[in-house]
Amino acid sequence: MENHKLSISKINKLFKDKELKPSELYDEVFERAASTESIIHGHLTLFQEENIQKALESNTRYEKGEHLGPLDGIPIAIKDNINISGHVTSCSSKMLANYVSPYDATVITKLKKEGVLFTGKTNLDEFAMGSSTENSAFGPTKNPWDPSRVPGGSSGGSAAVVSAGSAIASLGSDTGGSIRQPASFCGVVGFKPTYGTVSRYGLIAFASSLDQIGPITNNVEDAKLIFNSISGHDPKDATSLIATKTEQPNLNKAKIGIIKELMEDGISEDAKEEVYKVAKLMEAEGHEIVEVSLPLTKMSISIYYLIAPAECSANLSRFDGVRYGARVSGNTSSEMMELTRAEGFGPEVKKRILLGTYALSAGYYDAYYGQALKARAMMKKEFTDIYKQVDYVISPTTPSDPFKFGEKSDNQLEMYMSDLCTIPANLVGMPAISIPTGLSSQGLPLSVQIMSPANTDNTLLDFSQTLQSLVSFIDKPILNRTEK
Ligand code: GLN
Repeated sequence: MENHKLSISKINKLFKDKELKPSELYDEVFERAASTESIIHGHLTLFQEENIQKALESNTRYEKGEHLGPLDGIPIAIKDNINISGHVTSCSSKMLANYVSPYDATVITKLKKEGVLFTGKTNLDEFAMGSSTENSAFGPTKNPWDPSRVPGGSSGGSAAVVSAGSAIASLGSDTGGSIRQPASFCGVVGFKPTYGTVSRYGLIAFASSLDQIGPITNNVEDAKLIFNSISGHDPKDATSLIATKTEQPNLNKAKIGIIKELMEDGISEDAKEEVYKVAKLMEAEGHEIVEVSLPLTKMSISIYYLIAPAECSANLSRFDGVRYGARVSGNTSSEMMELTRAEGFGPEVKKRILLGTYALSAGYYDAYYGQALKARAMMKKEFTDIYKQVDYVISPTTPSDPFKFGEKSDNQLEMYMSDLCTIPANLVGMPAISIPTGLSSQGLPLSVQIMSPANTDNTLLDFSQTLQSLVSFIDKPILNRTEK
């Protein structure tokens, strides 16, 4: 059976036409998990047993024509930094290895109401800090296209399980690229919505002004479906947007800017060629392609690595052995906290906390954090101005195809550079999508990223659907080389 490769709307039609039952799809997905998980390690936990009953209930709803919506009975995987009541939310950290969430994140509440079946929780870089899942305390996830390569990160597990077919879709979180970069490395679609459109309530915070939850899927239609079911104002999240008004540019003839600064040094020839290839296809469809300059995108890594660690140092201060998670006892309370944090956090998380604490400390605040905030505001203006000239901007999603394990772990700067193209959208709070468009010279997935102004998420998704139909990539079956 190959139902796990179908779009959600096709699956939904099969359910409605009684040609497939939710419980049969559920079994199929877990069969995939049984044949792939031992190699790729995308899920940290599988919820197979507990959802059997729910799958049967979904069967009954379809039999009676009372199904809850297009996501009823769809198996979806959840990144393990999003709370599901009664389940561990480990953030792939020893600190939270035994933390059982007492409540559902808003996105989970919404998906439960639609009858979604959760396959389990997926692996990530510890507290979502990383680009390869090599920072997970529970071992890395492998790329289903080539297990000697990383799946990207931090939502590496969420991208790998969709690519391998052990979930129909997944949720990830994106602070600097953590949905889009792994989606690109695993040859699937990843969408980071406008900041504030999807509630962050129940997402364990990394950098609160940048974090966004979004879908990882086999195609753009599925991403749109899931985005629309998880978005909307949430009074439980103070940064949730009240209402979004979407502009509708002319989809038949759009003006698209290729970002000059993201087509220069540090970007592989393969990745650049992919953008030019897509630009040509769009031009042939009547869209206008121009080159645009966004000079501050070159500064995005420097800006991000002040703002994200500063916010993470504040957010992670709650893990002190008193309120949540692990505790290592000591003779005094401060010794207990010191030992708990020394033992509970891995090296990358500690490094970020130190960096952030330094950037926020008296005497350095203005020079570092304050400057980064100013540069971020300037960058936002640069993007706002560009969108007066063009409807969309495009770039590669990642500077290269998936790298090998260990290849960048000794070179911090190179690892950080792998987010060069994705970080700008987080800094300016605007939506961005990664669409797989072709293969590199090594036969590994490459993607193009499209960005659009804040609150034009559905317009961007519709436009991306037209792009998806121009490239043959997504029509190809999901490759799963783990079965060779
Ligand atoms: N790779 C980036 C980092 O290490 C982005 C992570 C993310 O988006 N969560 O911080």
